[in-house]
Amino acid sequence: MLRRLLGALAALLLLAAIALAYLWNDRADLSEYDELLAERWNGWPAVTATWLGVSTVLISDGETHLLTDGFFTRPGLTALLRGEISPRLDRIAEGIELAGVDRIAAVLVLHSHYDHAMDAPEVALRTDGLLVGSPSTEQVGLGWGMPASRIVIPEPGVPLDFGDFAVTFIESQHLPHGMAMGTIDQPLEPPASPFDYKVGKTYILHIKHPRGSLAIAGSAGFVPGMLADYRADTVLLGIGGLGSMEESYRADYLREVLGALRPSNVLPIHYDDFTRPLSQPIAAMPTFLDDVETAMADLQAAATTSSFALRMFPLGEPVAVVE
Ligand SMILES: [Zn+2]
Repeated sequence: MLRRLLGALAALLLLAAIALAYLWNDRADLSEYDELLAERWNGWPAVTATWLGVSTVLISDGETHLLTDGFFTRPGLTALLRGEISPRLDRIAEGIELAGVDRIAAVLVLHSHYDHAMDAPEVALRTDGLLVGSPSTEQVGLGWGMPASRIVIPEPGVPLDFGDFAVTFIESQHLPHGMAMGTIDQPLEPPASPFDYKVGKTYILHIKHPRGSLAIAGSAGFVPGMLADYRADTVLLGIGGLGSMEESYRADYLREVLGALRPSNVLPIHYDDFTRPLSQPIAAMPTFLDDVETAMADLQAAATTSSFALRMFPLGEPVAVVE
């Protein structure tokens, strides 16, 4: 009797493991979008963007370099499930090398979840940059030992100047997934749980340059009307979690961001599985966590009706976003 029970239990466990492995490996095939891959920048005067995974992007005009988020550690499943993550200095060094610059004027943090803010202080320290972000991001910086004098909390709607760039933080909302909401109210010292990196304020960045303008959304959320006074030639659009939301929400997000900014170019960001290091090929998130195919289908349809060019970033290669 006992033997049969144990046998049945083992069979059940095996089935559960197979189901989990199936779910984990069921992902959008990113090679489907290879025809959308943007050309590598050829050296003519331009503002370039280099995508480095999630919503980490280097923006440069050749003189001044800005980096959003600066997240390179990308902790694996084991560390996440154990609830103990911290910046990995080796991966941060590799990430900065992939960015191809050694000085960055400012690391601009879009919100304080770990996949945005965790490595930002170390990246700013290594590149002589300022850390710019919400009061919660300031606590991530202080917890890592960054001096308060190198941290800037932006006034929403008021541009900050870095070289020829004018960077405006616009208050937005996070995609409503309900995880790690709230604020970080004291210095956050890693190792910490991923849930300790509470969202804080969520921003969309508007970056103006004499050559043109771009906007960067790190999370697929919005405040109605938030971008009414802005336009952008190019939008780097965060689509993390978007494809798993209802159709009406997806339409609202695209209308609030792309409908308002009326860009000529759109490049999606934040669709990659950030439990894998950048040294492995980029893969989409498992579909049961984030339906990337649905978000991409929406974008392809919007590109036709709103006539913008939809392009994909090649990882770690500069792309002209404003010419
Ligand atoms: Zn987030």
